[in-house]
Amino acid sequence: MNTATLLLLTRPATTSAPTGDAGFVEAEADAPHVNVMDLGVTRGDGFFETISVVDGHPQALEPHLKRLGHSAELMDMPAPDTDVWRRAVLAGIDAHQREHGVQREIFAKLIMTRGVEGTGIATGWVYLDTGEDFTASRLGIRVVSLDRGYRHDVAETSPWLLQGAKTLSYAANRAALREAARRGADDVIFVSSDGYALEGPTSNVIIRNGDRVRTPQTDQGILAGTTQAAVFEFFEARGIETSYEHIPARELAEADALWLVSSVRQASPITNLDGKDFHVDAALAAELNTYLLSRTH
Ligand code: PLP
Repeated sequence: MNTATLLLLTRPATTSAPTGDAGFVEAEADAPHVNVMDLGVTRGDGFFETISVVDGHPQALEPHLKRLGHSAELMDMPAPDTDVWRRAVLAGIDAHQREHGVQREIFAKLIMTRGVEGTGIATGWVYLDTGEDFTASRLGIRVVSLDRGYRHDVAETSPWLLQGAKTLSYAANRAALREAARRGADDVIFVSSDGYALEGPTSNVIIRNGDRVRTPQTDQGILAGTTQAAVFEFFEARGIETSYEHIPARELAEADALWLVSSVRQASPITNLDGKDFHVDAALAAELNTYLLSRTH
């Protein structure tokens, strides 16, 4: 039995034909809905966002909606109708709460595809569900670095590779996580073929050296993280300097502390990278996660 709450978007894009409804309808999550010839299914041709919902509050909803639009732009797809997506997420949270009560942590997943081949009409849906339990990961994770196989300037030299768009083509990201598991690790930091630290398959990297916190600059074919932005706010409020930089991967080993951060997971301190142990400040990790989970917008 599927416990998800599902909303089908009748007006996902600003170019979609007008409909007499709110732009979305609630639907049965257990029933089939996606056409077998939808390009999202046959080619992974679409994009998505995953938003944490904590105590009924969607976190960083506006930055996520903005990034939805950015992915559409990079993929030459019609602009998502932001008002419809926003209303659908909020209505989905209400519907989920009616069914299951207010839960501490759930997530909303927003998916938009290029639609059924040949129609030129985008498909979109939102579902909300209880996520995986990240309690253990918030205490510490083991990570390996893996070559992503692209140079750090790939977004500029080869924009058709769509690095930096949150596309539905995450098979390679999942394969990287399986490789990490084969190497006895929980997660991955991708490194560019010319040696720069990039991001995780579903996360951004935060690097602390003393009173300085850095993350890889987002012009390197990586996502501008909504959680990373909140992590920077957390450190800035404590007088710590933050910056976006091109960071050679060898500098990872010299860090005082490293984290992988993303929606739903929040912040995972790294206990070991490529066999090297890192000290984890457990109190700081707890404080950071409490801060991230307390966000109401
Ligand atoms: N980078 C990639 C490739 C991701 O898939 C994600 C999230 O899933 C992130 C970074 C982190 O982004 P956010 O903090 O907005 O969830």
